[in-house]
Amino acid sequence: MVWRRIFQPEDEPESQSEAEGPPPEQPQRAVPPHIAERLNLQPRRRGSAVELRRRLARLENQREQTQFDIAQGELALEDDNPWKQRVALLTETLETVEADRKRVEQIDPEPFWQVPPVPITDPTIRIENDVASVGYTVGDERFTYEEPLDWAERGHQIARMELQLVEGQPEAVLPETVPAELREPLLAHLDHSLFVFATVLRDRHLDEEPLPTGTTLADLAWPCPDCGGWMDFRGRCQACARRRMRLQELFQERSRLLNERAAEIEEQHRIAERLPLARKQLRDIELQISELKQKVADTDESES
Ligand SMILES: [Zn+2]
Repeated sequence: MVWRRIFQPEDEPESQSEAEGPPPEQPQRAVPPHIAERLNLQPRRRGSAVELRRRLARLENQREQTQFDIAQGELALEDDNPWKQRVALLTETLETVEADRKRVEQIDPEPFWQVPPVPITDPTIRIENDVASVGYTVGDERFTYEEPLDWAERGHQIARMELQLVEGQPEAVLPETVPAELREPLLAHLDHSLFVFATVLRDRHLDEEPLPTGTTLADLAWPCPDCGGWMDFRGRCQACARRRMRLQELFQERSRLLNERAAEIEEQHRIAERLPLARKQLRDIELQISELKQKVADTDESES
């Protein structure tokens, strides 16, 4: 194997100095064409056999994928298929959501009882170290609300902390004459409404707006025009707010289900439409595979 030493010195360096790199003054010797052919023949043939097998493996993968596409396409054309089943399920769920929506849209009358116009007096708002304290008196009961103290330690925050009741009992302003079955819902409303009123006082003070005057307990529990229940000082009804939120949730759920159903229908059509093309691709791939297999067999034969 003399030629290897001559033409491939990097494989078997003749001396240490050559191993460090061929000297620039020694250009590669021209190889006679007939020798070059013999030199290149074996490696090229081996390389092409490897390449052929690689291409074959790629094609076999493609064939598997295309066979799967065809199976899916045939499934999509069947009368009963997974897409139709999912669409039917989604339609059922949509009907349930629609029924829920209709039910929630119907406004159930909320309980109401007119509270007496007990005057609300002596409003005081103090801001110390940026921490608000709000007080007012309903009849004889003094109420004080304060922002939690950690607000002062986090003075850089933009949002204000929610006021907390630190003095006064909402039960104390609940009239004795309230029917027994309405005591609990009215107390829950007053508890919330007294807090809302304190928040209004604080915010108006911070915004340098005039404080409300002549307010009575009746202004903290006036009837909602929609459901007839109690509204707070700002005219917000908790029952109607809950209903609107539920309607919003149902609307979003409906949109999501409609989109999902449309996607299922779209996918079924796409997969079914692709079937003729996939069948054609499979024929092409199988043809290429048989041609390649023949080439691989030829190469193996000439190498052995
Ligand atoms: Zn309402």
